[in-house]
Amino acid sequence: MTSDATTTMRDCVQQRLNYLDTLATTGDTLAKAALADTEILRLTSGWRALLAQHQPDAHGRCPQCSGWLRARRYPCSVWTTAHQHLILTEHPPSSQCARRSPAAGGPTSPPPAPSWPSRARRS
Ligand SMILES: [Zn+2]
Repeated sequence: MTSDATTTMRDCVQQRLNYLDTLATTGDTLAKAALADTEILRLTSGWRALLAQHQPDAHGRCPQCSGWLRARRYPCSVWTTAHQHLILTEHPPSSQCARRSPAAGGPTSPPPAPSWPSRARRS
């Protein structure tokens, strides 16, 4: 892929993310419901595809992030970023899952639910 092509691809992805941010923050209820119907599935599918590429191999190394000279142990930055953005809400990434039980010293409340309208409100 040429430099121009990668720049164009990067710009397109950034523009799409900006569009989704704008729609999520300033869109009306119907726009947000439509966003939830279409984009959440696309984003979860995208995360799954990305995380599948970064599954650890038999030696506990990420095959995508490991180079010829240096092996990158699991979890790599992709998995820690996913954990930070999908699981953790207020704290930096750690080796502990934020959803562990309160008896084990974990948080007492689940992450906040999205404030988008339910599908039942739309007609
Ligand atoms: Zn990786």
